[in-house]
Amino acid sequence: MLFSEVAESFSRMSATAKRLELSSMLAELFRKCGEDLRMVVYLVQGKLAPDFSGIETGMAEKLIIKALSMISGSGEAEITKDFVESGDLGQTAGNVLKSRIQSTLVPSELSVKYVFDSLMKIATTAGPGSINTKISLYEYLMMNSSASEAIFITRILNGKLRLGVSDATILMALTEAFSSKEHQEAIEESYNFHPDMGMIAEHLREGDLDTILQTGPEPMIPCRVMLAERLPSVSQILEKMGGKAAFEYKYDGLRTQIHMKDGKIRIFSRGNEETTANFPDIARAFGRTFRCKSCIVDGEAVPYNPETGELYPFQVVSQRRGRKYSIESVSQEIPLTVFLFDLIYLDGKPMNRMPYMERRKRLGKLFRENEDFKLARQLVSGDEPEITEFFHQSIADGCEGIVAKNVTDQSTYRAGARGWLWIKFKRDYQESVSDTLDLVVIGAFSGHGKRKGRYGALLMASYNRERDVYETVCKLGTGFTDETLESLTRIFEPYISRTKPANVVSKIEPDFWLEPVKVMEINGAEITLSPVHTCCIEENNGEGLAVRFPRFTGRWRQDKRPEQATQSREILELFQMGKNPQSR
Ligand code: AMP
Repeated sequence: MLFSEVAESFSRMSATAKRLELSSMLAELFRKCGEDLRMVVYLVQGKLAPDFSGIETGMAEKLIIKALSMISGSGEAEITKDFVESGDLGQTAGNVLKSRIQSTLVPSELSVKYVFDSLMKIATTAGPGSINTKISLYEYLMMNSSASEAIFITRILNGKLRLGVSDATILMALTEAFSSKEHQEAIEESYNFHPDMGMIAEHLREGDLDTILQTGPEPMIPCRVMLAERLPSVSQILEKMGGKAAFEYKYDGLRTQIHMKDGKIRIFSRGNEETTANFPDIARAFGRTFRCKSCIVDGEAVPYNPETGELYPFQVVSQRRGRKYSIESVSQEIPLTVFLFDLIYLDGKPMNRMPYMERRKRLGKLFRENEDFKLARQLVSGDEPEITEFFHQSIADGCEGIVAKNVTDQSTYRAGARGWLWIKFKRDYQESVSDTLDLVVIGAFSGHGKRKGRYGALLMASYNRERDVYETVCKLGTGFTDETLESLTRIFEPYISRTKPANVVSKIEPDFWLEPVKVMEINGAEITLSPVHTCCIEENNGEGLAVRFPRFTGRWRQDKRPEQATQSREILELFQMGKNPQSR
């Protein structure tokens, strides 16, 4: 397949934000791909391989500029000027190519395979001489591209493809192209256990639905974590759970998925990034503590004070995540206990379809509790006063609240799903109408007065999963320390977009549009109807919802991808709870 067909399809997709249209366009493209499907699917994701492979697509901006300067004969300053004006390196590459093609009129013959292999070489070449290799590979691609191909190749390399399609939309398109709607949920489930879009696509194209349906958790391949719904009272939780549930402490740390196979241990974050290098202490202790051949366990890593044994608040653990230096010494200063609550795989067998209590029982038999690993504290009960006491005890012990887990046979491990099998009940619910929300930043407003020259406020959105768009809920201007305010422009600089990102629904026009990437935790006083915000506007008879008096809690949810932020539907549920006091 020629890459020009992919570029043409990408360019049509860039002109729409409607999920169904995008999905049909993708399905049409996928049907044409033949053997190249796997590569095209990764390219649509803006990647070359699944995240867990550790292959990072990309090339430094300054190298791209250097190569464009060599091709065009213009100076690097001139190329940089064009880039600053367009705000999109892809567009700048397109501009360079347009002028060149007019003079040479070379028809493009680049195949998808050639482009993909070159991008892969650019991504994986390392060591001495690699810079020149990367530049010449990119140059060759540009010399043989049309302007539109150059735009997309460069955007992929620059990590800014911006098609506005989420994994859910790609899966929908793959189902439309090669299967039928009735299997969509099962296909999504397999993807959530084995997040490799290329693999799913290939099986579907070959008509091998069975392999996909049998795909489950596999050691060393991180799966999407199971998530909890929320309710504002113990009595409502008991009602939803059928009168009884397993209540556990809700620890406030880092979600941690640990895999072991053939003596090797790998650790993954909530967002499926590998974090083994940051937690060598956990990996070593796991090897000492667990006596099985292979497994996947799920838990929360919490820092504690080695003198007193007390749990530290969440902020402390962020000193360990993402650290590049002094990892070993900091691991002694800030040791972690991993509170385990689930077992997803054990010795050659997936455990996900087993009921929760059975999984937990087996987990308990796998190890003896020590400073490094403990079972999440649990109370199985249907007695409201007893559960309320357990909740208060959890707060006194430094936790955020409790998580109720369904104890019936239906209680499977649902990767990537937020469902009523797990329900959280947090301290915040008692203090304000709305819980803390994890909102996505989609725009920024220039500051005035004391905030001149910085951002004065941010435009925040929730994620509408059903429609795969981000919808605005509030302007956030309070809760920032001076230091945070100072750093906002730098933090958001890489995400500035000249135009409204395709997957954003907003009636407000901020001074700067931002790609929906960063997630921040906020507190709010209440949820109200709003004529200016767009949260749940379709689901709520044309009226949007807003969060009143939002305040940044100081916590950046670096562990959450934008699609894992608070969903618009949850905000609607909070609004409905607030409107009906009897239900609280
Ligand atoms: P939230 O981040 O507010 O959506 O709450 C869900 C998170 O609570 C999970 O992703 C875990 O990181 C964390 N958590 C802490 N303790 C537990 C537990 N016992 N069971 C499940 N999740 C827990």
